[in-house]
Amino acid sequence: MRRVLITSRSFGQVSDEPLNLLTDAGFEVDFYNVKYEEKEFIQKLSGCDALIIGANQLTEEAVAAAVKLKVVSKHGTGLDNIDLDVTKKYKIHVTNVPAANSNAVADLAFSLMLDVARKTSYASNKVKKGQWPKVIGVDVCGKTLSLIGFGEIGKCVARRARGFSMNVLAYDPYIKKLPDEFNFVKLATFEEALGNADFLSVHVPLTSGTRGLIDKNELQMMKKGSFIINTSRGGIVSEDDLIESIEKGHTAGAGLDVLETEPINAGSRLAELDQVTITPHIGMYSHEAINTVSMVAAQNVIEFFEKSE
Ligand code: NAD
Repeated sequence: MRRVLITSRSFGQVSDEPLNLLTDAGFEVDFYNVKYEEKEFIQKLSGCDALIIGANQLTEEAVAAAVKLKVVSKHGTGLDNIDLDVTKKYKIHVTNVPAANSNAVADLAFSLMLDVARKTSYASNKVKKGQWPKVIGVDVCGKTLSLIGFGEIGKCVARRARGFSMNVLAYDPYIKKLPDEFNFVKLATFEEALGNADFLSVHVPLTSGTRGLIDKNELQMMKKGSFIINTSRGGIVSEDDLIESIEKGHTAGAGLDVLETEPINAGSRLAELDQVTITPHIGMYSHEAINTVSMVAAQNVIEFFEKSE
C-alpha cells in the first residue's frame, strides 16, 4: 500500500472529503502537522511514496533520505519552500494548486486595504478597551491601487478594485497585453506603479529576484501617505525599511498577511505600530478555499500514480 505524508496544517480541516479521496484510492495516510521538527519530519517522510506539503522547507537532506518518495504535492500555490533543483536531481515530480485559493487571498488583501485605510482593527481594539475614539481614515474610492504581479491573485484583486471605483495599475514584466476583461487596468512600469500608488498590493512569488523587491528605495519612491499590502510572501517587502518609513511618517500604514519570520517574533517592532495590521498567514484560510485546495492536492497525488502505472 502506498503511503502519503501530509504536513499541511489546513489539509482536510473543514471536511473529511480530501482524506476520504486518498484512502478510497488505496493510500495509507500519515500526518505530521503539529509541532515541526526537521529530524522527525525526515524520519516520517523516509517511508513515504508521496508528500502533501504545507509551508515547511523541503531540504536535500529530507529528499535524500526519502528513498521511496516519487511525488511532492504542494497544498497551495507558492513553491518557494521546495528546492526545485533538488527535486529535479532526485527525479521527484512536484505539483501545486494554482488559482484555487485566489479569491480567498484577494478577499484578504482587499480587507487589509480597507482595514488600514479606515483603521478598523485599530479602532476596534480601542473600543474593546473601553475607549470610543473618532478615528479618521481615508477613502479607497477614487484612489490608485498598484498591483505588483498580475497573476491569478492580482487579477482577482483588480476585479474587486473595479467595484470600489479605484484606478488600477499593474506591474508585471511577464505580461505584454491584458485580456479584454481587464481593459480598466493600465499596465505600468515599476516606477509608474510605485510613484502613483495610494495603495500598493504585492502578488509576486518569492524568488531570488523578488526578495527585497520593495525596500527603502522603493518605499521612498512612493507617495507620502501611501499604504503597502502584502499577502504574497514575507521577505518581498523589507520589514526594517517599512518600519523606518512608517516611523518617519512617509508610509501611512501596512496590511501584512506574511512576515519575514513566521510565526511573528516575540517583541516584533512591526506589531507595536498602530498603523500596521498583521494577520497570521491566513490568505487561503476560507472554508471554500481550504476544501478545494485539499481536494486538488490529494487528486494530484492520485493522478500522478495513475499516470505512472
Ligand atoms: P501567479 O503565478 O498566478 O502570479 C504571479 C505573477 O507574478 C505572475 O503573473 C508573474 O508574471 C508575476 N511576477 C513574477 N516575478 C515578478 C516581478 N519581479 N515583478 C512583477 N511581477 C512578477 O501566482 P498567484 O496565484 O497570483 O500567487 C502569487 C503569490 O501569492 C504566490 O507565489 C504565493 O507566494 C502567494 N500566496 C499567498 C497566500 C497566502 O496565504 N497569503 C496564498 C496563496 C498564494
